[in-house]
Amino acid sequence: GVKRRSVNVVTVGLNNSGKSTVVNLLKSDGDRSSEIVPTIGLNVEQFKYQNVMFTAFDMSGQGRYRDLWQRYYKECDGIIFVVDSTDRLRLAVAKDELDLLLQHPDVADRKIPILFLANKMDLREALSTVKIAAAFQLHKIQDKPWHICATNALTGDGLFEGVDWFTQQIY
Ligand code: GDP
Repeated sequence: GVKRRSVNVVTVGLNNSGKSTVVNLLKSDGDRSSEIVPTIGLNVEQFKYQNVMFTAFDMSGQGRYRDLWQRYYKECDGIIFVVDSTDRLRLAVAKDELDLLLQHPDVADRKIPILFLANKMDLREALSTVKIAAAFQLHKIQDKPWHICATNALTGDGLFEGVDWFTQQIY
């Protein structure tokens, strides 16, 4: 389609899920043009890749920063949700964060695409995308396009296929 104004993508997930690794891989693959550093107390990563502004932050911990990161939901055109597929202990925590995200007023009524990255698929103990989709009850998301793919953010395996799907949804 026709490229429009710059696009905002929010990359979320628990700490240690692999967000920085994903972001660094995308950054290294092309024209990296800006890097803007953190709001105090909240670890925010932001960079522009081609026409897309990526903003990434941890959803875990500090509830008092919730309002800060949730401000990015309003302007976003799509969401990338990164999951550590090996982190069985915190799968329920990730699911709770996903539910909060989906219920947020700036997300709930908008048909923005959500890309799920079932990351660290190279590790033996990784859960399959089918198991993660079931645990997250992704079939219940009916008003937004979504896609889940297994990724290895260290090598990029699976990532670019997911990002291709994502950008097609946005443009
Ligand atoms: P963030 O806290 O979500 O930004 O997570 P990081 O990007 O810092 O990654 C957390 C740790 O997981 C780091 O040690 C990464 O090298 C590692 N990691 C990230 N992605 C993968 C992956 O796909 N496979 C493996 N084996 N390790 C990964």
